[in-house]
Amino acid sequence: MIFKKRLLTLVAWFLLVSGIHSGFAQEKSFTWPEGIKFGLTLSFDDGRNSQVDVGTPLFDQYGVKATFVIVPSNAEKRMNKWREAGAKGHEIGNHTLHHPCSGNFSWSKKNALENYTLDKMRTELKDANKQIESQFAVKSTVFAYPCGSTFVGRGTQTQSYVPLIAELFVAGRGWLNESPNDPSFCDLAQLTGMEMDHKDFDQILPLLENAKKSGAWLVLAGHDVGDSGNQTTRVEMLKKLIAYTQDPANGVWIAPMGEIANYVQNQRNISNISEK
Ligand SMILES: [Zn+2]
Repeated sequence: MIFKKRLLTLVAWFLLVSGIHSGFAQEKSFTWPEGIKFGLTLSFDDGRNSQVDVGTPLFDQYGVKATFVIVPSNAEKRMNKWREAGAKGHEIGNHTLHHPCSGNFSWSKKNALENYTLDKMRTELKDANKQIESQFAVKSTVFAYPCGSTFVGRGTQTQSYVPLIAELFVAGRGWLNESPNDPSFCDLAQLTGMEMDHKDFDQILPLLENAKKSGAWLVLAGHDVGDSGNQTTRVEMLKKLIAYTQDPANGVWIAPMGEIANYVQNQRNISNISEK
């Protein structure tokens, strides 16, 4: 009888300890910094003029740092402003040299991903990194897939260039995705990017609230910055978004893609080590 009781106690103790341990391991797998409920990155593609004519002056006014993935030949038109943006801590990333997308876009016929190879892509990505460093005086550690496409070739010869992005960059972002990133699970080489162009704050707010509820990392993606127009992120929306991020009750960590990616990586590595 006593033996049975002892055995039951032992079993209960074992269940309790293993329960605590698995709970602890889960908890340790990812946590945002103290007081933070979710991550937010504002990212803009192509190196368009309005990004430094309108965007960075607005962000500088509120101390917000954003991510800009550029095509060097586009950004050359505002060389000094881009250099200034980089020097002020905005992140300048790689968006290739020729912006290759599917040849179904008539403007991309000459640079169709269907006609690319991994070698050609590797050379182009490295050349873009070199140009960004020499012309804009920053090291590019993040990438965004032009048109959100992650392939080269066609049919049975199709290959993914995600492994190349994983090799060359801290993070790579897609486009027109439908969910934010789960920081405890996401592949940094395939971060999702949700569209913020031509949207009012009322349309962005549900994305923020959803990210807050789930502890996600929301990476918003846009193009031009202005009051109106096609592929344009609205200044009014950005002002309201920034006000939202500045309310500590919302617990937002707004930072460039590379900064949050490094944190995510670090957190997950640390937890891997502690679980061993
Ligand atoms: Zn683009």
